[in-house]
Amino acid sequence: MDRLRVALVAHDEKKPDLVAWVEQHRQHFKGFELFATGTTGLRVTERCPELPVKRLKSGPLGGDQQIGAMIAERTLDALIFFVDPLSPHPHDVDVKALTRLAIVYDIPFALNRATAEMMLAELCLARRAVD
Ligand code: PGA
Repeated sequence: MDRLRVALVAHDEKKPDLVAWVEQHRQHFKGFELFATGTTGLRVTERCPELPVKRLKSGPLGGDQQIGAMIAERTLDALIFFVDPLSPHPHDVDVKALTRLAIVYDIPFALNRATAEMMLAELCLARRAVD
């Protein structure tokens, strides 16, 4: 089976958290096909250059919607989006749209670190089951 396709996104104030979390699990992330919105992907690859992250457009410029299209086309298996609930974002509607599509197509969608942690464990198990 092809590698699981996982997308990473973080609002600005959560990027340090996401990058630190990915770095902590960098060995596991090597086994996935990774996608990220523009700036999130840049931060991840700066810290973990060995991870082949395919960078989409920046979130506010359409990157979130590109991820939405991947969900709708069933070319994405899981989404990890570290959302910052304490700041206003001009593209809030995109998060809402992603949430809706993740529900419609029933893909795993983690919005915070605790959930992402559990999801990563499950994704690694799923990968081992097919290896
Ligand atoms: P960014 O987009 O990774 O390009 O900053 C994230 C977002 O949707 O806020």
